[in-house]
Amino acid sequence: MLILDNVLLYLLIFLAIAAGWWLGRRDRRKVSPTVSANYFTGLNYLLNEEPDRAVSTFVEELEVNGDTLETHLALGNLLRRRGEIDKAIVVHKNILKNNIITPDDSRLVQLELARDYLLAGLLDRSEELLMDMIAKSGPLKNESRKLLLEIFEQGKEWRKAIEIAEMLASGTETEHFEEAISQYHCELAEEYLGSNRFDDARSALSDAMGHDARNARVSLLVGNLEFKQGNYQEAIRSLVRIKDQRAIYVPESLELLARSYEASGADPQALHDYLKACLEIIPSISIVLFLAERIREEFGDEAVAKFIADHLKRNPTIRGLSQLIDLHIDNTQGVAKENLAILRSFTEALVAGKPAYQCKSCGFEGKVLRWSCPSCKSWGKTEPIFGLEGE
Ligand SMILES: [Zn+2]
Repeated sequence: MLILDNVLLYLLIFLAIAAGWWLGRRDRRKVSPTVSANYFTGLNYLLNEEPDRAVSTFVEELEVNGDTLETHLALGNLLRRRGEIDKAIVVHKNILKNNIITPDDSRLVQLELARDYLLAGLLDRSEELLMDMIAKSGPLKNESRKLLLEIFEQGKEWRKAIEIAEMLASGTETEHFEEAISQYHCELAEEYLGSNRFDDARSALSDAMGHDARNARVSLLVGNLEFKQGNYQEAIRSLVRIKDQRAIYVPESLELLARSYEASGADPQALHDYLKACLEIIPSISIVLFLAERIREEFGDEAVAKFIADHLKRNPTIRGLSQLIDLHIDNTQGVAKENLAILRSFTEALVAGKPAYQCKSCGFEGKVLRWSCPSCKSWGKTEPIFGLEGE
């Protein structure tokens, strides 16, 4: 990609210099011999592999007009893609200095400049530029709002993000933005929960549910809130909703669910029945191992070994195999026990350091569940990895 970008940059600057030189020749009255000579200076920089100086020559010498606007924009965007954001800012600002371009073109360049600022971490400047574009009439309003949303997400300004996303949700990508709004309310709820502002958290979670009824994160957070307030039955009621929302997130609720059952004194058989029903939908090894603990307590090692082995036949996983080995090690002696121990260390090594979650949008993998993908910034697209090395 970088090599291709380098080739593009050289080509672009070369063409720009050639175009400038040609324009100069076409109309000698406008371009002095010095200016024309500067194109050759730029060309020399390029040939000597000094793209930095070639870029500044280009910006200084190639007039911005209807003919050259595209080239200026392409150069600015290319520099940004290469990570040379300060240079991209110079190129885009240089275009805006010109009064020759139309108001619509000017907005286009402002949007690019806002992107530069965002990437450079100059969030305030980017926000100011975009707010100005939204306030004035003209095209690219939704593009400006989408970029603003990125700024607010980056700055964790969830209330502002909700306001902008609500405007965007009335457009064509309603579902996408409704899901995002639901997650912003969850972010707020987590902040409230962190400072024990339970009423505010409850209200934020109710909003979150209103925007996306399938958001399993809401049920997890409501479970958390109810548990903190000692409403264990309510916590259970919220957590078991995950099965019908998005069953792949059931493993995330196991610990809190078990604690809620224990604290409420509810019949544990109901929990077992619920988890068995979940297994019908997702073959999660976390659920199997959770159930295995209970089966072992109640029916002993033989019963639990059969339960795990039955599951592994249908859905083989290394974590399940490890557990099965553990069960057999306890009941084995001598060489067989030693061999099982070796096998056990192999299975441990096989899954050690493996990512447990993956973003369905971009493929980014990580060890912890993140509701917003660190790579592509999509909300609610990170899911547990299933298969031999995962769930
Ligand atoms: Zn992603």
